[in-house]
Amino acid sequence: MGFLSSIFGGGSAPAAPKYTHVKIHPSVDGGIWKGVDGFSGGTLKCKCNSNPVEVSVAAQTAHNHICGCSKCWKPKGAPFSLIAVVSKDKVSVKANGDKLTIVDTNAAIQRHACKDCGVHMFGRIENTGHPFYGLDFVHTELSNQTGWSGPDFAAFVSSIIEQGSDPAKMGEVRGRLSAIGLPTYDCLSPALMDAIATHVAKSKK
Ligand SMILES: [Zn+2]
Ligand SMILES: [Zn+2]
Repeated sequence: MGFLSSIFGGGSAPAAPKYTHVKIHPSVDGGIWKGVDGFSGGTLKCKCNSNPVEVSVAAQTAHNHICGCSKCWKPKGAPFSLIAVVSKDKVSVKANGDKLTIVDTNAAIQRHACKDCGVHMFGRIENTGHPFYGLDFVHTELSNQTGWSGPDFAAFVSSIIEQGSDPAKMGEVRGRLSAIGLPTYDCLSPALMDAIATHVAKSKK
């Protein structure tokens, strides 16, 4: 019994709807987590049963988030991806790198995917003038290790409509993301949008 409910006679307000019937991504449908202090990385594996591609990520990730864009790799049936960044010098291919191919060589983020199972192992920016040059994009759900940074926002939420999600259900989708604890944006988070704008402002000087 909290202080306020003791004043107001103990009647509890109706709980906010949790929209648990809405699926976002298997890693967050049961709730989100916080990264473990001192966690130093792990190994990502593609979904191939034999000769999986293995990529070492030798550092904690940052800016982990749910993404609704059409470019990020998503697990089967999930409307959103889960994606984080890490310094590119911490990312290295450990096994079966010959199975990797770049999904779109013209894209700003070059996603290196397994030719056999289609999983994206890392996305790299080759343009040194890009605001996020030096960072690779990775899906830490591909690792058996726990301790990776947890997601803290949802980006490009409206973009799932372009990939077939029902526009009429977006209220429930945003409601579910909020219930999980993820602020929703239709671009990147304010921190990352500020970083991009700062880069643009500096490059104009
Ligand atoms: Zn594979
Ligand atoms: Zn994305």
